[in-house]
Amino acid sequence: MKALDKVITLFRRFPGVGPKQAERFALYVVKTPAIQIEELVEALRGVKNSVGYCRECCNYADGELCEICSDHSRDRFVICVVSQTQDVAAIEKAKTFNGVYHVLHGVISPMDGINSEGLKLKELVERVRRADGAVTELIIATNPDTEGETTAIYLTGLLKDYVAGITRIACGVPLGGDIDYMDEVTLGHALKGRTKV
Ligand SMILES: [Zn+2]
Repeated sequence: MKALDKVITLFRRFPGVGPKQAERFALYVVKTPAIQIEELVEALRGVKNSVGYCRECCNYADGELCEICSDHSRDRFVICVVSQTQDVAAIEKAKTFNGVYHVLHGVISPMDGINSEGLKLKELVERVRRADGAVTELIIATNPDTEGETTAIYLTGLLKDYVAGITRIACGVPLGGDIDYMDEVTLGHALKGRTKV
């Protein structure tokens, strides 16, 4: 069935969707009432037309500014740099951060050919410069893997002349974790990032 195969092929382009799942999605479309599928198509078109980048933090936004950047109760001089939009939601869920974000939309990965060109780095440098010394802290919250570390080092080099306090999120022993079962790299990081009690 050509029409069905086409839909399966298109669903397979979605991240994390394998052949079986793509087939299930396509069959769901076939048996779902047309009005519901129209609703989905409209929603997809709507999100494509209205969502762009926030002019401050480069996160996705409906208008010029995202909800966080338009919230005046947030400290806009404490910037948490994350690699992807999902990380903002994850940190927001923790409800402990009252600053603002900057979304890079990727990390520096020389192995995969993603260099600093494709990232929203220029926007971050301009933003920090525009603040003219007012940014008190820049928290680098990229993942503690090779790419995340490379990105953190690169960012520090790029911004150390403009921000006095550049910090890196701590990583190490998870709450409820067992030191006995920890690998030595994680444990090493936990020791390096120790805090005074
Ligand atoms: Zn924003």
